[in-house]
Amino acid sequence: MKVTLLPGDGIGAEVLEAAMRVAEAVASKYGVSFETTEELIGGASLDAKGVPVTDEALQTCLDSDVTLLGAVGGPKWESVEHRLKPEAALLKLRKTLELFSNVRPAKVYAPLLGESSLKAERLDGADFVVMRELTGGIYFGEPRGLEDTRGFNTMVYETAEVERIARKAFEIARLRGKKVVSVDKANVLECSQLWRNTVTALGEKDYADVELSHMYVDNAAMQIVRDPRQFDVILTSNMFGDILSDIAGMITGSLGMLPSASLGEKHALYEPVHGSAPDIAGQGIANPVATIASIAMMFKYTLELVEAADLIEQAIEQALLDGYRTKDVYSEGKTLVGTNEMTDAIVERFEELHARKQSA
Ligand code: NAD
Repeated sequence: MKVTLLPGDGIGAEVLEAAMRVAEAVASKYGVSFETTEELIGGASLDAKGVPVTDEALQTCLDSDVTLLGAVGGPKWESVEHRLKPEAALLKLRKTLELFSNVRPAKVYAPLLGESSLKAERLDGADFVVMRELTGGIYFGEPRGLEDTRGFNTMVYETAEVERIARKAFEIARLRGKKVVSVDKANVLECSQLWRNTVTALGEKDYADVELSHMYVDNAAMQIVRDPRQFDVILTSNMFGDILSDIAGMITGSLGMLPSASLGEKHALYEPVHGSAPDIAGQGIANPVATIASIAMMFKYTLELVEAADLIEQAIEQALLDGYRTKDVYSEGKTLVGTNEMTDAIVERFEELHARKQSA
């Protein structure tokens, strides 16, 4: 599989290197091999090439099956003009790769149940993803504008836009718990009515094996906090997903634990949710779990190697259960480790879990 590595800035390179160690260890067990190319992005690219991402780097990503990103940005580039900002590279990358959906898991690792703002008994066993439409809806709809006494935006979706993300959601549900909850506001918005009709029709036509239900967005926000265990795949539009994916992320605890995937028809980008953490960059203490869990998503959603993905997640959980903690999730009585030791602990546990699986 062709993989482009974009370490970026700050802790980006540290966490991506750690995650690739896990990726290589897993790949060797499942007959996968990676052909990797590294490119600059963000501030690193701006310093070396004068732009936050070059056309050549984007072409390398286009020529790959998968792009893996660390993070971009930092105080050094905060005052550069808007089009040169490291973050501008991310928008360009997503657009070039036509990534129309974003998948953010909310998985609660049992040893970190106590870290969440929700009660442990409500959370135990929660494991779902929020799938957000990324390139349409009210954030991009025209007309839009700001006048003296009036501001306006347009929420608009075409059937084809809804269909392509709904198809992805059903496919992803097939690799998980085979349940999709489509979230909208069809009681108020015509745009949502089209969304609901389209998802329903596609589900009936092509995905009868996946259980589909619908929920209004206000109720969904409540239900995620009230009983997150009821969900498997939440499918929703750009703005609703923006909000729900952050709620979902936060119930699981720390930023250093949150992975993400952005998927298109031909390409996929996997990256941690967190930024470049300039305050801890270069110290070897960054939590690599978010990026390692992003690798698990790559094994599940691009390679469709569900067992490999599950074993990575189990290895992360076992390392936490054995007390390993980077500083951001450390609590008294646990073993404080750096990025490399945490990664070693996860690789070792993956090897053990895999060996056990083979001999079973
Ligand atoms: P941040 O996510 O970089 O950091 C927020 C806090 O969380 C910091 O205290 C940091 O040390 C901590 N943290 C984050 N990831 C961690 C990890 N893996 N292990 C341990 N601690 C971790 O957000 P910020 O400070 O608001 O932004 C810093 C820079 O990153 C900015 O330039 C911002 O624009 C950029 N940013 C980039 C992305 C991206 O590349 N996708 C996302 C968000 C922010």
